[in-house]
Amino acid sequence: MRIILLGPPGAGKGTQAVRIAEAYGIPHISTGDILRANVKGGTPLGTEAKRYMDAGDLVPDDVIVGMVGDRLEQPDATEGFLLDGFPRTVPQARSLEDLLVERETPLSVVLRLSVAKDEVVQRLTGRRTCADCGRIFHLVHDPPSEAHRCDECGGELQQRDDDREDVVLNRLEVYAAQTEPLEHFYWERGLLRDVEAVGSPDEVFASARAILDEYDPASRG
Ligand SMILES: [Zn+2]
Repeated sequence: MRIILLGPPGAGKGTQAVRIAEAYGIPHISTGDILRANVKGGTPLGTEAKRYMDAGDLVPDDVIVGMVGDRLEQPDATEGFLLDGFPRTVPQARSLEDLLVERETPLSVVLRLSVAKDEVVQRLTGRRTCADCGRIFHLVHDPPSEAHRCDECGGELQQRDDDREDVVLNRLEVYAAQTEPLEHFYWERGLLRDVEAVGSPDEVFASARAILDEYDPASRG
């Protein structure tokens, strides 16, 4: 099972990534983790990446792709993997495709968590964070018993700037603009499948699993 997981902010991608990786016994590979591991481990690519990061520049595609390529060669990834946060751009997707063709390990599927814009806005703008202990509430899904007060410590509940409606709408627009060409790239190759990311995490996972099982050699019998 070689899976790429896509999804906008607020779609619950992190939660689903962990559950899918566990269910299919494949590593959950996020670019952030790979980058940190390479920088911390002082690998040649990590050292190069750090130079860009220290200068406040974006790490170039070939460096990122090199690190992902190394990671996919680790023993735990021979039976498959779930990529989260990579590729982000069409050039990255092309490089990944070349690499996987060369290794004769093509992608199984690109799973896209889809959720209506209104739903994401409601999810994200309803979040309230305790200024004292950091506990997160949700005005609709996990409301505090007293408005504006934390149930745990009585601290004041605040809306983070990131969760303001205008900021959320802007993030969704930026995400859509960046991701549409990538989705089109995979759609053209017949790899893109949609999961409706509505309902509880269990319900979303069940829908994801129904699709992924179609691609899992182990469940084909
Ligand atoms: Zn609190």
